Amino acid sequence: MENAAVRVRNLRKTYGSRAAVDDVSFDIIRGETFALLGPNGAGKSTTVEILEGYRRRTSGEVTVLGDDPGHAGLAWKARLGIVLQTTGQAGAFTVREQLRQFAGYYPRPRDVEEVIAAVGLEEKANTRISKLSGGQQRRMDVALGIIGNPELLFLDEPTTGFDPQARREFWGLIRRLQGEGTTILLTTHYLDEAAQLADRVAVIDRGLLQAIGPIATFGGEDARMPRVTWREGGTLHTESTPAPWAFARSLAERLGGEPDELEIRRPTLEDIYLGMVDPDEAVAPASSPTSSTSETLS
Ligand code: ADP
Repeated sequence: MENAAVRVRNLRKTYGSRAAVDDVSFDIIRGETFALLGPNGAGKSTTVEILEGYRRRTSGEVTVLGDDPGHAGLAWKARLGIVLQTTGQAGAFTVREQLRQFAGYYPRPRDVEEVIAAVGLEEKANTRISKLSGGQQRRMDVALGIIGNPELLFLDEPTTGFDPQARREFWGLIRRLQGEGTTILLTTHYLDEAAQLADRVAVIDRGLLQAIGPIATFGGEDARMPRVTWREGGTLHTESTPAPWAFARSLAERLGGEPDELEIRRPTLEDIYLGMVDPDEAVAPASSPTSSTSETLS
């Protein structure tokens, strides 16, 4: 695909006799935000680190910004932005000093003051990094990730440890980057974060791609069917139906008034995700990315 920033075909990585990533294929289109989800040990970091050029694959084809990460050089690396889960930042420099230094490593860096403003650290520009709060340090991580003006940004668990307010602000920052056309690969444990930010999601479990598709249709029609819950005769009932309002109306008629604890809701990405990776239910999808996935893998 010509406008793919990332192209992965039949990617496999084994450690000894165990496959950490097994026959995984997907594309990330230029300009889109792609969320890679999965439980611990699923193979997310292995996949991402292969794309970043930090790990060698066992087999399969991988192209990132037109090059094979296994052989690409510094000029290619300069087009990536990487925000790792943990960073070992030197604390002795101020925010501005460190960003100026990093800007010097790249051929086409962003303006340092613009980046400071974009991550909301204007008031901390002259503060030593060691004196920043956890949330501010994370924003600094992102600032360092985008200072080189990357075409492709890797964000690994970017908001872990953020309070709700800081997460909202961070999402605003990511939306600005999206608006500028940055392609983003996001890994996160927060399903609401993926739902807020991603255009498409992929779920990986035990090294296998379970499902991939646009957020709007992810999981397929059945998994996305609205649910009506209500209490009747002391028991909580749930009905999945494409016509929840008509169902609730008929329920109200039958019961002679609004049912107790009536609730109508569409399954969230988290509900859909848990249905895919739940150990009790995941056995079937593990062997077959099913017809309910919203996109065929080409
Ligand atoms: P995730 O990022 O989804 O938590 P990982 O990609 O880190 O998953 O790990 C996938 C699997 O590969 C796990 O079973 C993990 O134990 C194994 N693994 C990861 N790195 C190594 C390694 N360097 N050597 C051996 N096994 C590894």
